[in-house]
Formats: sequence, C-alpha cells, structure tokens
Amino acid sequence: SSFESATPHNKSVAIIGAGLVGCLTALSLSKRSGYSVTLFELRPDPRLESTSKSSKNLRSINLAVSDRGLNALRRVDPGLESRILEKVIPMTGRMIHKLSGEEESQKYALDGKKGINSIDRGYLNELLLEELDISEKKVEVKFGYKLEKVQEDGKISFTNTNTKQQEQFQFDLVIGADGSFSKVRSELQKFIRLDYSQQYIDCAYLELSIPALDNNGFSLDKNHLHIWPRDDFMLIALPNLDGSFTSTFFAPWGLFESKELSNDEGILKFFRYNFPDAVELIGEESLLYAFAHHPRGKLLSLKCNQYNYKDKILIIGDAAHSMVPFYGQGMNCGFEDVFVLTELLDKHRDDLSLAFEEYSQTRVHDLSAIVDLAISNYKEMSHKVNSKLFLLKTKIDFLLTKSLGDRWLPLYTMVSFRADIGYAKAVQISKRQDIILNWIQAGIVGLVGGLGLWNVLGRWARK
Ligand code: FAD
Repeated sequence: SSFESATPHNKSVAIIGAGLVGCLTALSLSKRSGYSVTLFELRPDPRLESTSKSSKNLRSINLAVSDRGLNALRRVDPGLESRILEKVIPMTGRMIHKLSGEEESQKYALDGKKGINSIDRGYLNELLLEELDISEKKVEVKFGYKLEKVQEDGKISFTNTNTKQQEQFQFDLVIGADGSFSKVRSELQKFIRLDYSQQYIDCAYLELSIPALDNNGFSLDKNHLHIWPRDDFMLIALPNLDGSFTSTFFAPWGLFESKELSNDEGILKFFRYNFPDAVELIGEESLLYAFAHHPRGKLLSLKCNQYNYKDKILIIGDAAHSMVPFYGQGMNCGFEDVFVLTELLDKHRDDLSLAFEEYSQTRVHDLSAIVDLAISNYKEMSHKVNSKLFLLKTKIDFLLTKSLGDRWLPLYTMVSFRADIGYAKAVQISKRQDIILNWIQAGIVGLVGGLGLWNVLGRWARK
C-alpha cells in the first residue's frame, strides 16, 4: 500500500559467533536499513584484560588476508579496509628454504609487487569488534552466551556461561557464524535435507615462534611467506609487525606421534637435520618448549550442499565450509560469503527468501572448489615447490602471463588476487590452461631430451 515505509519491517537478526566472519556479517547487516542485529559469542570479550590468552580464539596467531577478504571489507566500509591495511605486512612471494640452506624467492606476481598480507588474528578480531561498537547503529554484542538450540520459528536458547542459567530469545532470522563445529549447522540439519561431508586430513600442526632481533628487526626477509618444504612435512613462517615470525610445523600425525619425536633429543636431532637454519632462529629451548606445551592442531575439511532454511536460518564462514589452511583462503572466503550475501540482498531488495535461496544455489560451486583446492595446495607447498618440473611449469605460466596479459592467469593469481573471478571459474580456467601448459612442457622436455640424444648419437657417429 502507499502507506508502506521504506523500511517496512525491522528484522531482528541473531548472529551466532563473534569470530572474524560473524563480526563482519554483523557490521554489514547493521549498515543496511531494516535490520537490528544482536551478536552472541561463547567466549568472553577478548578486549578485556581479564580474558586469558587461552580463552581467546587463537587458532593461528597471524593469517594472510588477500584480495577477496579486502574486497569484502571495502564493500562494508572502505575506511575499514584502509585501517586494516595499516597493520599488515605485505608478502610478495614465497621464500623457499632448501635443505642446503639456500634460499629462493618465488614472486606471486609478475611485477613482483602484488602480495598477500600477514595480519595478527587477535588484532583483526578486536578491530572488527571496535567497529561494531562505534557503528552508527550499534550492534549489541553478548559475550558468554553458548548457543544450545535453534527452533524453526526463530526461538533460540543459550546457556549464559556466567550464571549457568538458560536464556531464550526470539528473532526473525538466525545466522550461524559459529565456526567448524557449528551448533547452528547441526540444528539446521533437523529442518532441511542437508548433505554434509567432512574429512580430517592426515596432517597436524604445531605453532612455533621466531623472535625479533634487537630493535624489532626481522631475522628473515619480512616481505615473504617463508617455506621449508620437505616433502612429507614442512615448516612455514609469516611475519609480525614486532619483528617476530609465527612459524608453523605441519606433519602427518604418525610423525608427531613417532618415537623419533617423542623426546627432546629426538626433536632436536630431527630439526637440526631437516631445518638447521630455522632451528638457529627459533632457538632450541623455545622449540622444545613448544613441543612440550603447545597443542597439536587438527585440520578439518568440510562441505555442505545447502546453507539456509527458508528466510529463517543461514550458515556462513567456517560453519558452512571449513578448509585446510594451505591456500590461505578460509577467512578470505568467509569474508567473501558476506560480500556475496550483501550483493544478493541488494539484488532482491532484502527479500530474504529469494536472497538465501540464490545464495545456497550459487555459492555451493565456489565453496566446493576452494575446499578442494586447499587440499591440493598442501601437496604443492610441501612438495611441488621443490621440483624442477613444477618450477619449469611456473616459469612458462609466468611467461604466458607476460605475453598474454589478462588472457592467461596462473591459478594462484586468480584465487589470491582476483576477487572478480569466482573460485569455481578460476578452477575451470586453470584446467584449460593446464592442458596447454602440459603440452608446452612436454615440448620443452622433449626438445631437451632430443638435443641430449642428438649429442650422444653425434658423439657415437664420430667415434
Ligand atoms: P571462527 O573463527 O571459528 O569463529 C567462530 C566463533 O563462534 C568463535 O568465536 C566461537 O567461540 C564461536 N562459537 C562457537 N560455538 C558457539 C556456540 N555454541 N555459541 C556461541 N558462540 C559459539 N584463513 C585465511 O584466510 N588466511 C590464512 O592465512 C589462514 N591461516 C590459517 C591457519 C591455520 C593454522 C588455521 C587453523 C586456519 C587458518 N585460516 C586462514 C582459516 C581461518 O582461521 C578461518 O577460516 C576463520 O577463522 C573462520 O572464521 P569464522 O568466523 O567463520 O569462524
């Protein structure tokens, strides 16, 4: 009717989980007209002095934010992107550390400038929470609320972790951004035929640290993501603003639990043999401390085939798609979820049913593609970056990019630097390019082999 206002009905939204993705979702919706947002989080406020380190969400101390993540942040608020970029360290390539101690820089982009950005996870999460506090339409954030139950009509129940009491609320819409072990997802399974698959890969991780030099100096080149690839296992390191590096050791569970790594002596022997240069930087005492006290992280890969129940429930971020960390895309992809959702809300003028249906139908292809890619990049990082054939292929890849420009894009470039190309599309383009690459590579290998044979035959003929 003509009496309808521009914001006909203020929709009440509960977002579960104030991790990186939940915070951005809350910020994005609070900036639209017609939504009032409440954010519930199991843990205490990470900004409070009293919040111990162990109860913060520190799955990794730092992580890499790249084009898709930045694009989503910009869409929510261009100022937010620049505030984040002030606190990152750009990494313009991989630095491969060979067993011999030799280092080799492999740039991510032709111009050597484009990079992914190392940022402190805690800082990023706290900055997003700050933004919610100062946002024009303040979002209420309720810490210490553990979601227990979601009902079809939007009734949700929590345990208040301080009082241990049950509390109930009623909302028009519930968004689950509650991470890999999402309660919202398991509740959603009661209302729709949600196909869901998960896999723990045979790889564990342990966080180590390389301290800063005096005066906050860096002991390795700070503008690289450092990798010590050793086939079955590897070490990586990302820079922090204070001059330190957070390093992660990835290895099969069998190795972690082997006799070899069961005592101090064995650990030192293993590291001195496989990562002699890194041990010097980490320090033997600190290495042993980490082995004794830091947890072993599990790596989960998880896919769903649908993300919504009507206009009532939606899952987003790791709750909908956990991926192993080897493409550095988990958070970036979760931020992209927020971007895609915002675009669809615009397109459907906030008709939630239409927006969520289209979200589920279209997003599934991209999410499935990146979850698979992340697993295959493990092989690339730990193994292939060492191989001559891989490097030859990368060189041809770069050469073709140089001569063909935008008509030829390496997969890593599309995933990390081209938010305008969806993950599924990137894989499709890359498969086609790969066929061509393999032909060229076979041609070169054939040519080199041919020349070698020619040489031998020539020498034989002159005998
Ligand atoms: P989470 O960060 O898991 O947040 C979920 C929140 O929900 C938590 O705060 C939790 O306390 C809360 N919660 C859970 N259950 C309940 C409940 N019942 N009630 C209320 N609240 C609840 N991604 C990148 O993009 N780049 C990287 O370089 C990168 N590196 C990584 C390295 C490692 C070792 C790992 C493990 C991951 C890495 N990731 C990276 C992935 C990234 O960490 C995740 O994709 C991202 O944190 C997902 O954010 P989220 O908000 O969806 O979930």
